[in-house]
Amino acid sequence: MSTPTLPCPGCPGRRNHGQYLCRTCWRSLPADTRGRLTRRDKRAVLRLQQLQQALAARTPLQIIRVSP
Ligand SMILES: [Zn+2]
Repeated sequence: MSTPTLPCPGCPGRRNHGQYLCRTCWRSLPADTRGRLTRRDKRAVLRLQQLQQALAARTPLQIIRVSP
């Protein structure tokens, strides 16, 4: 278990390398959004962009959705 070092885009906290968000923010996402973001296929980059856009627009984590 490594020390979180990178800034979390969803809060002032820190996230682990290789994760999009810190543990607290990740748990705040809807379950289907988490499942989609966990999938690593050719649309993974698109989903990450959707997440980043939602965060930039200050969308509450609880209602953020990404493409299937
Ligand atoms: Zn966070």
